[in-house]
Amino acid sequence: MKVHNAEIVISAVSPKQYPETDLPEIALAGRSNVGKSSFINTLIDRKNLARTSGKPGKTQTLNFYLIENALHFVDVPGYGYAKVSKTERAKWGEMIETYITTRKQLRAVVSLVDVRHDPSKEDIQMYEFLKYYNLPVIVVATKADKIPRGKWNKHTSAIKKKLDFDPNDTFILFSSETKKGKEEAWQAIEAAIEK
Ligand code: GDP
Repeated sequence: MKVHNAEIVISAVSPKQYPETDLPEIALAGRSNVGKSSFINTLIDRKNLARTSGKPGKTQTLNFYLIENALHFVDVPGYGYAKVSKTERAKWGEMIETYITTRKQLRAVVSLVDVRHDPSKEDIQMYEFLKYYNLPVIVVATKADKIPRGKWNKHTSAIKKKLDFDPNDTFILFSSETKKGKEEAWQAIEAAIEK
């Protein structure tokens, strides 16, 4: 998809704030610093619509971006930031769970992991949670430019194994530096919203 129009429509905490439209939604989740903002900005050809996080863990809201009047991207606040209190973490969990389990428009979740490392405990929990609710997942392994091409397969296999990756899901190696995986990501998103 070539994106000409993308704008933030609302930062929501509770369901009554979610936009009242029937547009399909794609949620995006991942650890703070994984490259989620960079991924969103790459897909929509912007430098800085989704904020790249100087302060990980800061945004504790679901940010809805309207893309081409065709779909919403729902940016889920990053997890795994050590300085977040227990109370905040619990609030975060509740907000995500409510959204994921009640939102009819949600078609798929982009789950971002860093290609250089094994998925964290939280990455694995997130994937298990999404699979428990039978949601299609597009796993995006970010920062592919940071490891040599010759190691891509090895890292991909290791990540899939740790996640107990469902072969019906999509796995995409991605780099916001080189734009590798951008077309594949759009294809996966378009396939998910057309279903
Ligand atoms: P977020 O916290 O998940 O939104 O992560 P950001 O998009 O803000 O990225 C965190 C840091 O990783 C920033 O310094 C980015 O420039 C860097 N980064 C993100 N994606 C890539 C990538 O594909 N390649 C490289 N080399 N750096 C990246």
